[in-house]
Amino acid sequence: MHPPGSDTVLVRYGDLGVKSSKVQRDMERTLSGNLDAMLGARGIDGEVEEVWSRPRIHTDPEDVERATDAVTDTFGVVSASPCTVVEPTMEAMREALVAAAREHYDGGSFAVRARRAGGPDAHSFTSEDVERDGGEAVWNAAQGFDPEVDLDDPDHVLYVECRPEEAFVFVEKRPGPGGLPLGTQRPLVALLSGGIDSPVAAWEAMKRGTPVVPLYFDFEAYGGADHVARAIESARTLAAYAPNHGFDLRVAPAGAAADRLVREVGATRMLSLRRYMLWVAEGFVRELGAAGIVTGEAMGQKSSQTSANLAVTDSITDLPVHRPLLTRDKQEIIQQARRIGSYEDATIEAGCNRIAPDYPETNATLEAVEAAEPDLEPLVGDALERIETVPL
Ligand code: ATP
Ligand code: MG
Repeated sequence: MHPPGSDTVLVRYGDLGVKSSKVQRDMERTLSGNLDAMLGARGIDGEVEEVWSRPRIHTDPEDVERATDAVTDTFGVVSASPCTVVEPTMEAMREALVAAAREHYDGGSFAVRARRAGGPDAHSFTSEDVERDGGEAVWNAAQGFDPEVDLDDPDHVLYVECRPEEAFVFVEKRPGPGGLPLGTQRPLVALLSGGIDSPVAAWEAMKRGTPVVPLYFDFEAYGGADHVARAIESARTLAAYAPNHGFDLRVAPAGAAADRLVREVGATRMLSLRRYMLWVAEGFVRELGAAGIVTGEAMGQKSSQTSANLAVTDSITDLPVHRPLLTRDKQEIIQQARRIGSYEDATIEAGCNRIAPDYPETNATLEAVEAAEPDLEPLVGDALERIETVPL
């Protein structure tokens, strides 16, 4: 929703704002580059203007809604508003508010909310003056609807953000993902199974500024072609949030390891399989110069994810294994997967159903796992040599 003729998108960020000014400036620059890439990827003609603490996008009025959607899919953005830009005078703001109300107000209660930025002398009026004056103008213009002012819980809000050089008028603050601009952290290798959890976990890491390199383990005879296809779809969905970062899916072989473990290991089989995956991932992290691993595991979600078992699987690697979903319930994860668009890629439970033993261990010790485990090292070495890249 936007006032008539809107050709600008106001961009707000959160966590960047608490950084030192040098870090903030660098991160703003990264954010601008990411916004530019997001617009480009969606074929939207728009120009990013870097303005300290309030970047903005200039675009054609007919593209302003799509540009706002692109902005609110960009990590680091807390909210965005398609808006009209006017002179920071009472008269111009009043006029723009009335125009916005004519387009959007159709009865019920309303409020004008104003914010002023700049020093105390930047304007000859206060934000309360803008709210009172603007509100009165809207009220007069809306007489046909029997208008009512409600400052606490209005049906319609008309916003003004008044800065020293210009004022923005808008009717919506569309929420973005928040977090930090992608590319402000060192990358992680994301174990992406094509299931429901792992794309959400990767997305959470990306939200905090971390590019991810998706790594899929192909269980071959134990998995099936559709599993790879789902992992590719998940990677594609995530890639749309990272248009200026490489996102090709890497596929590591895991059929031989699965086969060996199915034949030789009983109750602790899945733990050894996970140790195999983490060990291969560790080698891959080192090859890439990445900073760690991210998985979609959640405490207690499966037998391999009890607190005792996570301790045993983690001990195979010195790298940090990040688990953004550690404390999440499945229903919350599913809702988020729907929001970010990865749910459709993953409606069948992925993974290891054909590999799992009938009675998996839930409370393993490292000694027991190691005692039952064949030597994984040659399998890991072989897998690292055979990792393939599937371009999206
Ligand atoms: P998901 O967790 O993605 O929904 P899942 O629940 O079937 O899939 P789990 O057995 O819970 O998978 O595996 C836990 C985590 O291990 C996954 O979130 C993912 O990070 C990783 N993982 C599992 N299987 C694979 C695989 N085939 N390739 C890459 N990573 C995998
Ligand atoms: Mg899972």
